[in-house]
This record gives sequence, structure tokens and C-alpha cells, in this order.
Amino acid sequence: MENTNEMQLIFDSRSSNESFARVAVAAFMTALNPTVEEVSDVKTAVSEAVTNAVIHGYENEVKSIYIRCRTEGKTLYLEIEDKGKGIEDVKQAMEPLFTTKPELDRSGMGFSFMEAFMDRLEVTSVPGQGTVVKMQKTIGEGRKLWTTQSL
Ligand code: ATP
Ligand code: MG
Repeated sequence: MENTNEMQLIFDSRSSNESFARVAVAAFMTALNPTVEEVSDVKTAVSEAVTNAVIHGYENEVKSIYIRCRTEGKTLYLEIEDKGKGIEDVKQAMEPLFTTKPELDRSGMGFSFMEAFMDRLEVTSVPGQGTVVKMQKTIGEGRKLWTTQSL
């Protein structure tokens, strides 16, 4: 289809790959001509999702993390998947401050950041099978909103 672009990444669930993953997604989205802030929002969201896959999904075992990226018009669609332990109660996991690893100094804010920095967040998970985090963000919306508000 015209006006769409896709890329996929598969990489080891090492925390040293988090920066690689967010930079790769940032590079992919530059075609949408985003602001510095929009790029930074997406990088934060990717970081949070990848960190979750590494520490919660795989609990630091080295397995594969899958990122699927698509742009359609000015919208970026992102899927970050692990085939790790999954989440028993997704609704509870997504609540601000909820964490199952307080002993690791986790603050339970990862999903809240993803929600705040992206336009949409959807989490599907099957215990014992893994987790898929789907997010989307339309580039240019923030700027438009700001202009409208400042009139
Ligand atoms: P923080 O992100 O602030 O360091 P956190 O990772 O615990 O803390 P969230 O990212 O909001 O907070 O995740 C909330 C909870 O959801 C986690 O504590 C974990 O129990 C569960 N979770 C999140 N992602 C996954 C995943 N990919 N696989 C399994 N469990 C997950
Ligand atoms: Mg987290």
C-alpha cells in the first residue's frame, strides 16, 4: 500500500539491547518528520516495554524480543512482544504504581508512561505464553493541539 512502511526487529532480551531498540524505532519514525519531543516520547515507551520484556517477561533469561513497526500516513503503530511468562491480571498490572518486583526498586510506572506518551496502548497477555504491547502515536497531533490551545 502507498503511504505505509514496515519494519521488524528480533533481538536478544539483554538489557544492553534496550538502547539499540529505542534508537532503531526512532530512526524508523524519522520519515514522519516528528518533533524532538515526539521522538523522545516514543523512545521512552519503547524502553519501558522492552525493559518489561527483559525483566518481567523473561526474568533475565536471554530469549527473543520481537518489535513490529508500521507507519500509515502520519501514524506510527508499534508492537513489542515477548514469549515469556505472561501477565495474570493485565488490568491490575496497568494500574499506576502496581509492580510485582518492588524489591528491584521498580516503581510500577512503566505502563503509565507508555499510556501518557503514546496515543493508544493495548496489552494482550497469556500466562505462560507471553505478552504483546501494542501502541500507536500520530505525529503532528501534539503540535496541532498546542497551536489550538495557544490561540
Ligand atoms: P517500572 O516500569 O516503573 O520500573 P514495573 O515494571 O513493575 O516498574 P510496569 O512497567 O507498569 O511497572 O509493569 C507493571 C507490572 O506488570 C510488572 O511489575 C509486571 O508484574 C507486569 N509486567 C509488565 N510487563 C510484563 C511482561 N512483558 N511480562 C510479564 N509481566 C509483565
Ligand atoms: Mg516496567
